[in-house]
Amino acid sequence: MNLERLENILRDEPKFRLKQAKQALFINLISDWEQATNFPLELRQRLNQECPLEIETKITKSQDENSIKALIYLDDGLSVETVLLNHLDGRNTVCVSSQVGCSLGCVFCATGKMGFKRNLTRTEIVSQVLFFARYIKSKGLKVNNIVFMGMGEPFLNYENVMGAIEVLNDKDGLNIGARHISISTVGIINGIKKLAQEKLQLNLALSLHAPNDDLRSKIIPYNRANSIKNLIKDVNCYLEQTGRRLMIEYLMIDDFNDSREQALELAKLLKQIDPPLYFVNLIAYNPTDEFKPSPAKRIKDFKLALNKQGIEATERHRFGQDIEAACGQLAGKL
Ligand code: SF4
Repeated sequence: MNLERLENILRDEPKFRLKQAKQALFINLISDWEQATNFPLELRQRLNQECPLEIETKITKSQDENSIKALIYLDDGLSVETVLLNHLDGRNTVCVSSQVGCSLGCVFCATGKMGFKRNLTRTEIVSQVLFFARYIKSKGLKVNNIVFMGMGEPFLNYENVMGAIEVLNDKDGLNIGARHISISTVGIINGIKKLAQEKLQLNLALSLHAPNDDLRSKIIPYNRANSIKNLIKDVNCYLEQTGRRLMIEYLMIDDFNDSREQALELAKLLKQIDPPLYFVNLIAYNPTDEFKPSPAKRIKDFKLALNKQGIEATERHRFGQDIEAACGQLAGKL
């Protein structure tokens, strides 16, 4: 599937054709142009030849079937992973990748260990959601949430991520409300500022994972380029401009960032966020050679310590650990 090619082919057709094509693609979720029966036969044949709709993938399901990971094969032989999360409340979230690999090398992250291969195009990002939209259509289900928390740092592929969001949000596209689209970042210089200027009311998640620069730089090397102090400044401007709530993501890593003292240090740090439009999401870490997850009791105590300081904190449900589809586990292989 290639949106740019589709737009080029339809440039010589009457204007309404593009709208019809989008409806066929994103509302009827066709996977073959033959199904676009309102198109002349010749055009359908041309589109099937020059702009085929197949999205080549390989999928794995978790044992509880609440998460499904898809490896999507790209035209240049590379591949990228995307995950569908079925929540208990009926929401279906697609966790989308924005890059093949990542240049930032966060120590806890399997994608970081791959190094950077390339940015994904707008179409390649949209295709991840489209694949799962088609996949669950037969069960009468719809994709209703998108999180940019897959492979890559979305703010390092800003234009294509925003281009994809435009298609995902478009009423003639997948029509997913901006409030149901979240972008997660480690805090790229200017990325948060740029997002604050966007007209869409997107959600922002900040991967903080540590209460001070020394600790954070040990797991997120990029922190040396943009310290927590600078991040808080950017966040304060963002909150003032947008009035949106910020999600602070905090991976709970055994004996690294999970003590009561560190919870208090985190609370003190977060109190510098003004206006205080934020909440903390505590994420159980998925074990790697380097780190282990915090025991459940320590996560509860950490949460309680934050709550006692007046900080709202929740524990994120753990998805897909058995298929390496959980946070930080995506590495472009099945
Ligand atoms: S956590 Fe995000 S920014 Fe860090 S290496 Fe992994 S994909 Fe890149």
